[in-house]
Amino acid sequence: MKYTFKKGVHPDSAKGASSAKSIERMPAPEKVSISLAQHIGKPAVPAVQVGDTVKAGQLIACADGFVSANIYSSVSGTVVSISEMRATPVGKCEHIVIANDGAYETVTLPALDNPTKEEIIERVKLAGIVGMGGAGFPTHVKLMPKDKVDTLIINAAECEPYITCDHRIMLEYTEQFVEGARLLMKALALDKVYIGVETNKPDAIDALKAYVLDKNITDVVVVPLKPKYPQGAEKQLIYAVTKRKVPVGGLPSAVGCVVDNVHTALSTYQAVVEGKPLYERIMTVTGDGIKEPKNLLVSSGTLYDNVLQYCGGFNSENVAKLISGGPMMGISVMNGECATTKTTSCLLVLTPSGANLTDPTECINCSKCASVCPMNLMPMFIDSALANADIDTTVKYGVMSCIECGCCAFICPASRPLVQTMKLAKKKIKERK
Ligand code: SF4
Ligand code: SF4
Repeated sequence: MKYTFKKGVHPDSAKGASSAKSIERMPAPEKVSISLAQHIGKPAVPAVQVGDTVKAGQLIACADGFVSANIYSSVSGTVVSISEMRATPVGKCEHIVIANDGAYETVTLPALDNPTKEEIIERVKLAGIVGMGGAGFPTHVKLMPKDKVDTLIINAAECEPYITCDHRIMLEYTEQFVEGARLLMKALALDKVYIGVETNKPDAIDALKAYVLDKNITDVVVVPLKPKYPQGAEKQLIYAVTKRKVPVGGLPSAVGCVVDNVHTALSTYQAVVEGKPLYERIMTVTGDGIKEPKNLLVSSGTLYDNVLQYCGGFNSENVAKLISGGPMMGISVMNGECATTKTTSCLLVLTPSGANLTDPTECINCSKCASVCPMNLMPMFIDSALANADIDTTVKYGVMSCIECGCCAFICPASRPLVQTMKLAKKKIKERK
């Protein structure tokens, strides 16, 4: 049996270029630019000054409040700036710039042996762990839900086309990943954790099941999911695994669930068992415009340009799009001047044949967008209401429930920029409030 949700789309998975590539460590560049806003919530506050010498794994910025996260240096070296304004895929923010001395001197936190629930949560908070699937929600907040939670689901669907970093983690860090998931389970005082994996990754499913069987682990359930997009969206994953529906505007905890990402589980293991805070991550570099697609272990603050260069650069002068993230939910960036963060799962380089560069035409009222929307919205009506500056009608048609998955834009024969429409409508509603 394969578990799934209603509606959605079936884009070409396009994972073949990198899915068999082992994770490779990319040497840190001469200089890293580490963002102070790598998470949802208030940006972190610098804890170092220009001229300070730091080590990899040293705290350089402190969380500012409950919904915020600590930031650690990814290299040893000298702080050369603490307020560099640099573009990110979602706007400019302050970065701490560190000149790498090449010595890779590292400091760690004390490793925890058989930690209590409280010790795990405190360590996750201290280590600056956030949701690494893209959202960047501080994980310690999820581990202290206001509602009663009875189900933890690890989102190992990796349903976005092209991206393969979670797949490689499950294959190459099987033990650390599964034990990290069990630490998250312990932090929530639960006796079971569900790992939802799409069946297009049979080797990952086999590796997880073999580990669990070998260690005689009975509290880990591997759930085979039907390959479909957006199978890994929180609400759709919860429905697929539990058949519970998260209410409009509600959090997963409203239906007793917490969802965490594969890399978040791995980072939890590393923080608790190895004492390593979060300052580097595994990401995929792929697309038909890059010479050597790879899965890389990259230091936080590495410029996209450095990453692209390490992968041999563009294989065409005619690169049409550089996307931070996957093709469905990722964000196009102007150039390679952004720096990697805790949530940079993928850099996707597309030539015109891989990117849809068609200009939008008028809506032909085919209703295909509504037929695939996993949130049961009618995107064409929201699109037309926004075109008429009728914000009330966008609200009436439920734009605030949109999860920005991109299914509507993917299927639209008129190439309407529907996700941008949804984002713009939401922005205008917030501005009006
Ligand atoms: S309207 Fe929103 S939720 Fe529905 S398909 Fe489009 S982007 Fe996804
Ligand atoms: S899929 Fe595109 S053309 Fe068809 S109804 Fe929706 S917006 Fe209009």
